[in-house]
Amino acid sequence: MKVVVLTGAGISAESGVPTFRDADGLWEGHRFEDVATPEAFEAQPSVVHRFYDARRTALLAVEPNPAHVALARLEEHLGDDLLVVTQNIDDLHERGGSTRVLHMHGELRSALCTGCSGRSEWTGDLGDYPPCPRCGVVGLRPDVVWFGEVPYGMDRILAALGTADLFVSIGTSGAVYPAAGFVQYAATAGARTLELNLVPSEGTHLFDEARHGPAATLVPAWVGELLG
Ligand SMILES: [Zn+2]
Repeated sequence: MKVVVLTGAGISAESGVPTFRDADGLWEGHRFEDVATPEAFEAQPSVVHRFYDARRTALLAVEPNPAHVALARLEEHLGDDLLVVTQNIDDLHERGGSTRVLHMHGELRSALCTGCSGRSEWTGDLGDYPPCPRCGVVGLRPDVVWFGEVPYGMDRILAALGTADLFVSIGTSGAVYPAAGFVQYAATAGARTLELNLVPSEGTHLFDEARHGPAATLVPAWVGELLG
């Protein structure tokens, strides 16, 4: 059985990671226009660097929850037949034990060079303008996909959705495209579709089945069912 899992802010929120989807629409007190667009980075690179440097440091204070761990357990059984696509930029899936994770919106623990386009694993700060470890140019930016930029891995994601037997959406609002369109793409290609979310998402009616509650409860239960 081929399975594609899409995860979003909800699964990280249960580990205490703040997101744009909080009730006030801000991300740690910032508007997205000020920290998550190429224009913001061009206008105020130091502000944007400080923001992501703080988010990267904050990862040290959070832990994966039972939903992340359950997906790693599923990967142990399915291997390459499971693809986890995440909209999250934290590293909680990896720390929960998953190895086959596609970060469509980039990763906090990665730096992108505006000189050579190389991506380098990054655990420190970028706000002190270190040189690129690949080409030496001082031009590293957070390796996150900002509003108006193209997500990573779309070809691979669409190929996996096109051959999936099951598509499961976990902790996503169903409001942000292209991810919000994955359910219809998978269903058209013949996959069964399941939503696991705290509350009904905007697209909940598009799924064959929807279960609502905390991911830390729903995901381990679902994985348990699947593995019999
Ligand atoms: Zn470079």
